[in-house]
Amino acid sequence: MKTLDWKNLPFGYMKTDYNVRCFYKDGKWSKPEVSTSEYIDVHIAATGLHYGQEAFEGLKAYMGKDGKIRLFRWEENAKRLFRSADGVKMAEVPQELFREAVFKVIELNRKFVPPYGSGATLYIRPLLYGSGAEVGVKPASEYVFLVFVTPVGPYFKEGIKPVNMLICRDIDRAAPLGTGTFKVGGNYAASMRAIIAAKHGGYSSTIFLDAKEKKYIDECGPANFFGIKNNTYITPKSESILNSITNMSLLEIAKSIGMKTERRQIPVEELAEFEETGACGTAAVITPIAKIVDPDKNKIYEYCRDGKPGPLSMKLYEKLIAIQCGDAKDEFGWITIVE
Ligand SMILES: *Cc1c(COP(=O)(O)O)cnc(C)c1O
Repeated sequence: MKTLDWKNLPFGYMKTDYNVRCFYKDGKWSKPEVSTSEYIDVHIAATGLHYGQEAFEGLKAYMGKDGKIRLFRWEENAKRLFRSADGVKMAEVPQELFREAVFKVIELNRKFVPPYGSGATLYIRPLLYGSGAEVGVKPASEYVFLVFVTPVGPYFKEGIKPVNMLICRDIDRAAPLGTGTFKVGGNYAASMRAIIAAKHGGYSSTIFLDAKEKKYIDECGPANFFGIKNNTYITPKSESILNSITNMSLLEIAKSIGMKTERRQIPVEELAEFEETGACGTAAVITPIAKIVDPDKNKIYEYCRDGKPGPLSMKLYEKLIAIQCGDAKDEFGWITIVE
């Protein structure tokens, strides 16, 4: 293989050598099977296509200075996929099968793990969908669980850069008692109109409010929201957002560096009180927010006036990244070495 230009990798799909597939049939999961094809055969009546029986995960493997590949909190992704499966009534993937498939696909594609210091990582995408044929609305009796990987460049090529966000009041991503807490494709489909409209307006993404009262902050497109004031890390509590593993980790890190933390409803007006705000998720870790525009209320909230991320956001970001790539001690027990 010609060596990849690791420093200029996009954040997108690139073909690797192998993926791994498991099949659920007659109430049982098969062992992971290795494939070199990028394609799957799908039944024309598969419930994954028609009724959105589908869930996915996203996690990263990092090459350390010591040449060891590190996985970050994979058990949390396994648990979340298990909950998402139940959320749309699919066969759950046992944690052990998840582990086997994820580790196998990394080992098989070892040469695609970007080197230490390149800023690039190996993105791992587990996918579960209803493959069995149904025409009436009911769960399939067959499922496919597959895992592929793709090397991805750093989200911010020129270093971590603050972005602008638009508050959206006329489209909801998820209802309070809906599927917002599950990582299912349907939530993404529901959010696309709003995200594309925001991007057309020059914003990085949309901030969704709680669907019922439109009073509280829910999520930033496909990432969780946080605000910082008085040395306190504050993130929304809501029944319609996806529990981000990055956010859970930032809450722990915030405590460990002497910050206070709160998980509670965040009224939109409180945006005026924050010293720093940001979005968080596996892809970019932290995306600092420079400006939040609320067109319906004629309000603009500004942060990072010097164009740079806030100091506490940076501190949280640097500590998390250092743990992930093995530069800092794994004090929380979040890392598994891929042998
Ligand atoms: C995946 C996802 C996130 C981020 O979760 P991480 O576990 O941190 O990657 C946030 N919001 C939504 C809607 C998501 O689907």
